[in-house]
Amino acid sequence: MSTIEKLKKLLSNSKKAVVIPHINPDGDALGSCLGFAEYLNCKGHSATVISPNEFPAFYDWMPGASEIILHSSHPERATEVLNEAEVIFFLDYNDIRRVGDLKELVVEHPATFVMIDHHRQPTDFADIMFSDPEKSSTSEMVYDVISELGDKSVINKSISENLYAGILTDTGSFRFGSTKKATHLAAAHFLEVGVEPDEVYTKVYDNNTLKRIHLLGYTLVEKLKSVDDLAASYISLNEEEQRRFDFQKGDSEGFVNYGLSIGGMKAAGFFRESDGYIKVSLRSKGDFDVNVIAREHFNGGGHKNAAGGRLDISLEAAINLFKEVMRTYSNELKLN
Ligand code: 5GP
Ligand code: MN
Repeated sequence: MSTIEKLKKLLSNSKKAVVIPHINPDGDALGSCLGFAEYLNCKGHSATVISPNEFPAFYDWMPGASEIILHSSHPERATEVLNEAEVIFFLDYNDIRRVGDLKELVVEHPATFVMIDHHRQPTDFADIMFSDPEKSSTSEMVYDVISELGDKSVINKSISENLYAGILTDTGSFRFGSTKKATHLAAAHFLEVGVEPDEVYTKVYDNNTLKRIHLLGYTLVEKLKSVDDLAASYISLNEEEQRRFDFQKGDSEGFVNYGLSIGGMKAAGFFRESDGYIKVSLRSKGDFDVNVIAREHFNGGGHKNAAGGRLDISLEAAINLFKEVMRTYSNELKLN
């Protein structure tokens, strides 16, 4: 039986479902989960989104966001709903460890597990697995899955706004190489059912606080550095700097890309002290594979050109590790 047939069979009668994004959910994790949960509810299932922890305020507007149960702040409610679940959907990650503290509640859970994800090197933890690293986003995959289930007509304006926001954020506003004809065709469908692209863009990207823009200015002037004379740059932010600018979740989203916007740069790193660990973000251009580097050196993973991870060492040690790793790639990172 094909994967889609298995899912069709699973959803052939009314199910209690829980949809879980990865820890520190981004626009694609939230958009795919919210869009897919609403689709399930439209089809007569009972679906709830449970997030491991909170998400940036600039995603508060997303349809259904206010009903997401945060396990970090409402563990009893999350446990109650999870215990009832017959199906659990894991969206936008391919390793169960990415559910954070929810792991204890899900690993032994008797529900059927369904994964929909576009990251590289999936682990085999789900009963039904949709994995396609060629896809721009999990939100685009959700659009494909709903279409293949024969339910394109169910995709209403709010489902579309969520999926469109997911694609928009994961493709860097339709500019990364993962953006294909199919990505634009999905977006075209969302516009047809009422999505206003300028409205979504404004809600996500033109919603900064003054402090965040000041943090960006400070970071670019004071903290953006290059590694030797290599095509690699990095930014670091310690806790004191974050406090100075009243750092809120999501405030440094996208900062790593400035390092990569310098002509000739092939790799960029971003390191931030966060609750006793170092959050790592890596970005690259062309064939330089930061997924491999994140897996080998930074306890993480992701895509060829965008990956992340975490380190339990000091910020200085993390920066030194990044410099050392970049030096081992000095042939690939020669500036032209
Ligand atoms: P970001 O740098 O924006 O947090 O993440 C970039 C990409 O790397 C995303 O696709 C994200 O899912 C992945 N990623 C970020 N952090 C981790 C991590 O700790 N582990 C793994 N496996 N992937 C990560
Ligand atoms: Mn994604």
